[in-house]
Amino acid sequence: MRLGASSLGAFALQGDPSRTSAADAPAIAPFQRYADLLDLLKKRGHKFQVVGHAPDRSPLVVVRAGGDKKPGIFISAGSHSTEHAGVRTAVELLDQLKTKHQVYVYPCRDPIGLNGFNYALSMALGEDPALKSVEEAETLIRKQGDIHFDEGGALLTSIGEYGFATQGLLGRFKKGDKVLEPLLGRRIYYLTHSKDMPGSGPLERAYTLIVTPDGEVLHLNRFHDTSWAPIEVRCARRLMAEIQPGLTFDLHEYGGDAFWFSTRKQRTEQDEVWEQRMAREAIRAVGLSGVKLAAENYSPGASFSRLERGVYGLDATKRGEGLNLVDFAASKYGPGFTVETGMRQPFEQRVQMSMLTVKTAVKVFEERYA
Ligand SMILES: [Zn+2]
Repeated sequence: MRLGASSLGAFALQGDPSRTSAADAPAIAPFQRYADLLDLLKKRGHKFQVVGHAPDRSPLVVVRAGGDKKPGIFISAGSHSTEHAGVRTAVELLDQLKTKHQVYVYPCRDPIGLNGFNYALSMALGEDPALKSVEEAETLIRKQGDIHFDEGGALLTSIGEYGFATQGLLGRFKKGDKVLEPLLGRRIYYLTHSKDMPGSGPLERAYTLIVTPDGEVLHLNRFHDTSWAPIEVRCARRLMAEIQPGLTFDLHEYGGDAFWFSTRKQRTEQDEVWEQRMAREAIRAVGLSGVKLAAENYSPGASFSRLERGVYGLDATKRGEGLNLVDFAASKYGPGFTVETGMRQPFEQRVQMSMLTVKTAVKVFEERYA
């Protein structure tokens, strides 16, 4: 709702008349392509540093913001390409997060996945197949690929160096399963289907799976503590070694329609106290905003323990598969949060919630180092 000038009163009239209300601000829309992300950074005057290249030669970029104070804050997103609001949030925070601390944003850990399933296929085919539907995609990978698995609606084929799948395969095969032999050390892309997840519609993203050299199907938010690791992860690791972040955020999403985030057990008592304080303040702020928090009885999985409504402690040793980015941060550097917005919510709302979490936690972080 906009108020007419006459109802604003004398105090408001002293403000800058050119200032627009939040309702006038342009909507925060998803990026269609990784190039859109890079263009927006340029348009907003952000200089980025190229820290590596994805297998398609896309530059992996980091952008510096905030002030000069240490310890720095590390913000990343996009290791799971379907969880697109995180990527959009990371970019938005470059302008919206006001802090004296150094801020390093590595906004997208999977440019290929962000570009979508047609794009992923183009790496194998040498041209954009311009597929319009999930059905067309399935027909193409069946016809042009070597079929490795085809059961219960899950099709896995390979074309050239890459695997392509119609469904997520996490947890489907045992480590070392014969099915995976042709794909050892390679990537599998699976297509998005959902029509009710804004920013991640049918074929709009390609979710990257990594088959380890010993035949385990993992994804780009693993390998933070392993010697063999995909380039996108190695870049994150190198960056963190350089930054020595005092606070880390990894902005994810999950398939539901509410909000939660996870914390980690910290190495020191001080880190533990501040991690809990940041978590408490952040979930309170999100709750007060009126957004639905994960239900009292919700559980993200067996390796999570509920700390309070919307906050879960994640124990990577119970989960297995090695360390994800925030597990790794906790093991080496300090507090961190994996934020999970619900993909079945409107896109902009997800961005706002993710942003509110980071901003609130950073305020508490500043108190620690005041
Ligand atoms: Zn995720």
